[in-house]
Amino acid sequence: VGGGSAQSDLLRARARLSLQEYLWEFYQTSVNIPTEEQAMARRAALDICAELRVFLHAKLPDMPLREMYLSGSLYDDLQVVTADHAQLMVPLVLEKNLWSSVPGEDTIMNVPGFWLVRRENLEYFPRNSSYWDRCMVGGYLSPKSVLEVFERLVAGTINWPAIGSVLDYVIRPVVPSETLTLEVQYETNRKLYVDFLPLLVMEDGTSLIAKPHRLAAERHENLWRQSFRVAETAKLRALDQEDGGCRCTCLKVAKAVCKLNPALNRLNASQLTNSILLLSEKEGDWTQEALADRFLQLLRTLVGHLEAGRLPCALSPKVNLFCELTEQEVDELGYTLYCALSDPEGLLRT
Ligand code: GDP
Repeated sequence: VGGGSAQSDLLRARARLSLQEYLWEFYQTSVNIPTEEQAMARRAALDICAELRVFLHAKLPDMPLREMYLSGSLYDDLQVVTADHAQLMVPLVLEKNLWSSVPGEDTIMNVPGFWLVRRENLEYFPRNSSYWDRCMVGGYLSPKSVLEVFERLVAGTINWPAIGSVLDYVIRPVVPSETLTLEVQYETNRKLYVDFLPLLVMEDGTSLIAKPHRLAAERHENLWRQSFRVAETAKLRALDQEDGGCRCTCLKVAKAVCKLNPALNRLNASQLTNSILLLSEKEGDWTQEALADRFLQLLRTLVGHLEAGRLPCALSPKVNLFCELTEQEVDELGYTLYCALSDPEGLLRT
């Protein structure tokens, strides 16, 4: 029996070694984006951002906004496969005494991780005391209505062909899109999608973004989504810096796998990042040599979270990062990943 188990250990070690090699090769050839390509995409996004700033300042000087800025994986070296998207953050300025935030768990919707933004003091500061009152629906600031304001501007007022020809890009708003997106063709064969993401930074530092709840029934329409992206990304990077770890590499490999496998498209960067953060609380060895082991462990924990129907946000455990998946999607993701456990290389052959 001892001999047999030693032999199976050896076999397993060999399989592990080759998965380790596979993963690094996959990382080099399919996951990581050449620096040059990233730079071109960033440049195109920056050009558009600059144009929009000029346009908004000129056209709507009284709209209370802080300076727009670009963000997302393209700026954190966490984008994978192709440099093709970025977010344009549009921070709205809200008067402190006129608006307050209500956590989703304290509403009838009972969804932690989402918030209502309530208009206060209407009796002393009647409608239109705040610029953003125009986006008030039923006493709450409506993210949908805020997005519509920008949509009218961006899709209706701005002469994109003219700006595009100056910048030597082909720019067009993507309609219809759930969020407001610009498609920028900056080389014959290269496209970049820039999402407008209106953002509220509340007094306690909570970031809320105008990205609708995916299973948005009508009663979810006024919900703002809390964003943990900045904090969770910073935490992942800090952990790697402490121990020279491979968490970011593991994340990028997993993101690429989910991007390239249609059955896994539903898993997003935040879910994967948080799974790795949770795993980091239990598992100490994130050396480069452990990439294959950690990658397999990540798949296994994802299967576990999917079985439970629950993935707590590492920074706010009451938030369930699977709450926008349907039961069927949860089952399908779980099944696909479960099958992948016995043939992880299969995930990389797409
Ligand atoms: P990737 O798109 O998979 O490479 O992942 P990112 O890490 O760039 O995440 C982008 C997604 O996160 C988009 O769908 C955004 O809507 C969402 N998101 C949530 N909060 C933020 C935020 O604070 N900044 C950005 N850029 N995106 C955010």
